[in-house]
Amino acid sequence: MNAPESRIQPATTAALKFAGKRLREGALVAFPTETVYGLGGDATNGQAIARIFAIKSRPSFNPLIVHLYDLAAAEKVAGFDDRARALARRFWPGPLTFVLKRRADTKVSELASAGLDTVAVRAPANDVARTLLKAAGRPIAAPSANRSGHVSPTAAEHVAASLGTAVDLILDGGTCTIGIESTVLDLSGERAVLLRPGAVTAEMLNREIGAIDLADASDEKRPRSPGMMDRHYAPSIPVRLDATAVEPGDALLSFGAHAIAGFAAERNLSEKGDLTEAAANLYRYLRELDWSGFRTIAVMPIPEEGLGLAINDRLRRAAAVTEGAAAIRPKPKRRRRKQEAKTG
Ligand code: AMP
Ligand code: MG
Repeated sequence: MNAPESRIQPATTAALKFAGKRLREGALVAFPTETVYGLGGDATNGQAIARIFAIKSRPSFNPLIVHLYDLAAAEKVAGFDDRARALARRFWPGPLTFVLKRRADTKVSELASAGLDTVAVRAPANDVARTLLKAAGRPIAAPSANRSGHVSPTAAEHVAASLGTAVDLILDGGTCTIGIESTVLDLSGERAVLLRPGAVTAEMLNREIGAIDLADASDEKRPRSPGMMDRHYAPSIPVRLDATAVEPGDALLSFGAHAIAGFAAERNLSEKGDLTEAAANLYRYLRELDWSGFRTIAVMPIPEEGLGLAINDRLRRAAAVTEGAAAIRPKPKRRRRKQEAKTG
């Protein structure tokens, strides 16, 4: 009955207090972080966590990030060593997640860890997120507030569009400033392994703790992050990378100044070629160009440096075609014929 929009509440002091109480009662609350909007639930409440998996249709082998107010709260959940503490002091609150060994005495549900002996923890920097974590007074598990595999939300309306009334409350705290998911660093073993690139780059980590390994998806010997599925963050129409020209019907996701012409629609991630601005715009523009009337989303090359590594990581996953996805995705030609049939 409820219009999905009715679940959206401006993140006022009163709304945040109410949301904290609802989280303690087991409700699911979507909230902004500096990276993307999260679908939050009490990490110590197995039923709340199970509902997160169900609403997102997230595979149960893919563990969640547990959000905490600060390092002191995180140390109650996970075992921090000197490296993790040094990085937390340098980058928290902020867009950096650690995978660490679970503490034996933690109350965090094993479901949040997907049965692993490790747990992912992060203290986000966004003020709404911090106030909510304080109000809840619990570790809050919060994956991105979208259906599994789809484009992550960077505004409250995106959450409502993706999850509708399945979520109990959506706190509106405006647009996410970073716009791309947190860096995930595995510190559960001797070697530090970068599982997911993000705004805290490999070079920044390197400066603090020395050498880190890059997770290699093709390396069968290394247990990779369960969430590093090839196809992810994906619009419903095909995505073509490194485009230097367009074909008729293509929507163009551009970057910087260019002379490409003939596209059906265009969004420029950053006209001045700024990677930070591009990351913040990425998911909004992917959504805006994701329309069945377009043939593909053609994406101009993005420099493979700094935040560009994280942007390209997400774009490669958005473009990846898995066997399952290929089977359910209509071929562009067929779709166009259908469209003609409808209009003709
Ligand atoms: P999301 O919450 O959707 O941004 O995704 C969180 C990412 O962190 C996923 O890629 C997960 O697979 C990864 N992750 C969470 N917990 C763990 C863990 N214990 N070990 C390895 N990767 C993890
Ligand atoms: Mg996600």
